[in-house]
Amino acid sequence: MRHIFITGGVVSSLGKGLTSASLGMLLESRGYSVRMQKLDPYLNIDPGTMSPYQHGEVYVLDDGAETDLDLGHYERFTNAPLSRNSSWTSGKIYRNVLRRERRGRFLGKTVQVIPHITDEIKRAIRSLRKHGVDFVLTEIGGTVGDIESLPFLESIRQFALDIGRMNCLFIHLTLIPYLKSSNELKTKPTQHSVSRLRQIGIQPDILICRTEKSISDVERNKIGLFCNLTTQDVIEEKDADFSIYEVPITLHNNGLDNRVLRYFGQDSFKLAAPDLSCWYDILDRLRSPSGEVTIAVVGKYAKHKDAYKSIYESIDHAGIKHRTKVRVRGLPSDSFKAEQLDDVNGILVPGGFGDRGVEGKIDAIKIARVRKIPFFGICLGMQCAVIEIARNICGMQNANSTEFDQSTPFPVITLLDEQRNITDKGGTMRLGSQVTILNESGRAFKSYARKEIAERHRHRYEFNNNYREKFQESGLLVSGTNSDGALVEVIELLDHPWFVGVQYHPEFKSKPTSPHPLFDNFIAAAINHVKDLKDIKDLKDSVSQ
Ligand code: GLN
Repeated sequence: MRHIFITGGVVSSLGKGLTSASLGMLLESRGYSVRMQKLDPYLNIDPGTMSPYQHGEVYVLDDGAETDLDLGHYERFTNAPLSRNSSWTSGKIYRNVLRRERRGRFLGKTVQVIPHITDEIKRAIRSLRKHGVDFVLTEIGGTVGDIESLPFLESIRQFALDIGRMNCLFIHLTLIPYLKSSNELKTKPTQHSVSRLRQIGIQPDILICRTEKSISDVERNKIGLFCNLTTQDVIEEKDADFSIYEVPITLHNNGLDNRVLRYFGQDSFKLAAPDLSCWYDILDRLRSPSGEVTIAVVGKYAKHKDAYKSIYESIDHAGIKHRTKVRVRGLPSDSFKAEQLDDVNGILVPGGFGDRGVEGKIDAIKIARVRKIPFFGICLGMQCAVIEIARNICGMQNANSTEFDQSTPFPVITLLDEQRNITDKGGTMRLGSQVTILNESGRAFKSYARKEIAERHRHRYEFNNNYREKFQESGLLVSGTNSDGALVEVIELLDHPWFVGVQYHPEFKSKPTSPHPLFDNFIAAAINHVKDLKDIKDLKDSVSQ
């Protein structure tokens, strides 16, 4: 088993996650089995309590782990199964060590960063070693030089000593900035970053250079010379202006997977050329779409592109499948204007917490319902749809969720157990994969073409069953519940071209190579909406002629 460590330098947000996921994908496409992991140096136990402004979306795994959004890239690009062990933070590492200290497991020793914290980090890395796995890819979050990163870098240095340097490959991702005024690419920050790594005992084996302009051979040579690398191990990763799905292809064309395999002694590996046909097909579909739809995403963080990362990606996947360009219009739920929904072909209201912008989401849903625009509500989006229907169809004035109004006369969304102690903000939610049974008369069933599905959850509040009958009398179909029928998972309006709300998060199970069935059908409905609008226009034109 071989380990690949990916570190980053010069600046943050270089797309280390995407680069790691791309390498995982390239190795899989040659027939290898990979495992993926992210070690984040920050102190939070997990990103579950962090603001989407700070950290982007919280990505939820089947086992309920709340993780960094980079794990979304791993799942979308590779088939590596992810679990709690795929996501570690300093907080989680220290917590484990301190718990052991309280139990007296260190037998009177002084507990120290080296060896106790570093041993725990190495245990986290080893936890992914399984029979049949060829490569474990471990991405270290943050940037070389951060105080918090040090124990992680020290651990991977030790790890290479433990299992043999030839079984470990260090990849360092840096930025080569371009200076407009002098029309030059600058390599100095990269040299400094690598020298920082070398000071702590890590010589990178491959350098991946993010750049907006192509790097010449002369520059690659120079970078190699200063960073103690051969020119071939300096790999360019030019900005993917068109689509993130270009990244793996670019890296392959620039020799990344070849250099990785060569490092490990290519002879001992299967030499099959990678099968990238489905990735070329994705790019082809993106480059030559046969139609176009506009989808409004009405949410609290609509202007912050990482906050709904998986949703935007899932929309793209469905667009790829239908060879349709999807224009996404992010509308802030607390300040958008109704006219901004005039020309859209679908409205999606994503999940969220807290009451800011909730009334705007409800207004947008009313517009979708009344104007028969395809609507997709996810988690809080589904709860808002229930509130809208309660208020405007069932006549329950001021109906609300108890999350936003404790004294509402119609608490149509409530905590399953209002008595539950929620002072600890982490891990008190319904989290992770749970089974939903679909009602065969619903659109959801038709989309999945299966009765039993499993989807990931991340929420505290639920549909209030006391109102179930009243809703059903008003035309709302409960088209999916949990296995014992007690929790409502999917709602639909049948008197509408496509109106579906789900209590779970389908966006965590969509891939570019296999879009999620609900996103697939939502975009199909949006395409039909475009056709309907065109038919109406044609009809009007012919009448006026
Ligand atoms: N705030 C809602 C709840 O806790 C919805 C959560 C979400 O959209 N993820 O149930």
